[in-house]
Amino acid sequence: MRASSGPPSVGVLRSDLFAVSAMPEAFPARAMLPVHIEPGADEALVSWLVQLSWALRQSPLMFSRHGFKVDAAGDPEWWRRPSAGQLATIAERTGVEQARLKAMTLLGWSIARDDEGAQRFTSRRWTNPKLGRRKGRRVDVCGQCLAEDERPYLRRLWLLGWIGVCPRHRTQLIGQCPGCRCPIRFKGLNAKAPVDLLACQKCGRGLACLQGQRANDRSVDLQSLLVAGKKTGVVLLPSVGEVEWATMMAVADMLLGMIWTGVATQHREQLFNRIARELDLGWEDRLSLSLGSNYGSLLILDWLVADLPHRLPAAIGILKSVRFEGLLGRHNDIDDDIAAHLRTILAAAIATPAVGRGAWHPWIESLPDSASELRERAARERYKHRRQRLTAFAALKAGATVGEAAAIARVQPMSVYRWLDRGIEHGLEAALERPTGRPALTSAQSEALAQWVCADRANQNRHAIVAQAQARFGIELSLDIASNLLRKHRDRKPGSVRRRRRLWGPMKPRGPRAKPTHDLAPGS
Ligand SMILES: [Zn+2]
Ligand SMILES: [Zn+2]
Repeated sequence: MRASSGPPSVGVLRSDLFAVSAMPEAFPARAMLPVHIEPGADEALVSWLVQLSWALRQSPLMFSRHGFKVDAAGDPEWWRRPSAGQLATIAERTGVEQARLKAMTLLGWSIARDDEGAQRFTSRRWTNPKLGRRKGRRVDVCGQCLAEDERPYLRRLWLLGWIGVCPRHRTQLIGQCPGCRCPIRFKGLNAKAPVDLLACQKCGRGLACLQGQRANDRSVDLQSLLVAGKKTGVVLLPSVGEVEWATMMAVADMLLGMIWTGVATQHREQLFNRIARELDLGWEDRLSLSLGSNYGSLLILDWLVADLPHRLPAAIGILKSVRFEGLLGRHNDIDDDIAAHLRTILAAAIATPAVGRGAWHPWIESLPDSASELRERAARERYKHRRQRLTAFAALKAGATVGEAAAIARVQPMSVYRWLDRGIEHGLEAALERPTGRPALTSAQSEALAQWVCADRANQNRHAIVAQAQARFGIELSLDIASNLLRKHRDRKPGSVRRRRRLWGPMKPRGPRAKPTHDLAPGS
């Protein structure tokens, strides 16, 4: 070795100057890992691997690279469908049999249309498709399952993306930290620092909680139907029959897309009110519909698929949504094969030209009120013509024919058809009013005028009423109508409790009639 008096010149190796040794490996290759964690029931492979790496104080990324020669930087989800070689390596290093490891993955389960993506059924998928994964994948968990675990871990089921309920506790999954209410996220196998899997990323608290929100039985049933379909590749839909997994996800996308894309909030809320009424939901469940959680979407889907032929046209009517072709046009990734299946399953959404007399069916179906609500409204209605129309519509909604509805409302069937035509064209409120050649007062306007008339004696003048109608509503009243209003409302004192006379009041028996004094049947 050359003695150096200045900085070493080119060609001198550092090892010539200092004693160095190779960097020690994190743990020796091909040997068993120094820790053992027993996998939990239905634990996801990702959960188990991340917790192994945490026990070794390693980042999941380095752990997979060194431990199993898997680079998760590009594909953090490799654990879902690992290769046979990867499984063999993991088995060798951890001492857990391959069959058991395989049961922690999704090998053999169907996958279609990114159905394993986080928050797959939530409204955010439609309203804000650019879901950020920077802070980790969002996941919904069952706080009770975690509370019961000796070592809390993530279930495979929770990582499917569209899961909303815990089948064991029959409760809704939670998507927010019970401590700080921030969304639950977890960093996966590509994390560059050790990950404490089941601690809130914001406040550090554990995610276990002792109580959960009870889930509606229908959501539990639909979810288990879908889980079975995910495993076998075929979903058995009650009203449809066997549906392949890829087609099922396309159906779900079409239906949820119909609700969350290009629809006014008020119409969506009307639909949710109807679903809540027909499924008999409590207020928490009703709220979950509006929030657009996975759980809420399961309820919506359950309501729709239980009776697609009737509920789908009703939903389209209430939402004022586009029909089948428009919905299909939003998904450019649906191939012709699946589109053909969709055309059969969602046939009720295909627009049929409104011809003949049955054309009123979809409109009646689309009314947000139920038959009994329409009847109640009719009973409260002050004007006879509106009562008649509401009664007829209530009968139609309850399934009566036009002839029967006309008989109930005591009019000719032709009148009912006329009301329906007006309703289809101008909506329910217009259908309840009498069509007149010239603009007439609606009941709200005539009520307002009536109050104005009886508020002040100076207003009790036909010409003043005509002028007032012109000024307030831009309507040219005839003097006859002004006289009518005047006659009805003139002598009402402001604040008086006298019963108002009604223009079209219900007929009321006026007590026992006096016996006729003359001979009813002369000559008998
Ligand atoms: Zn649970
Ligand atoms: Zn927190």
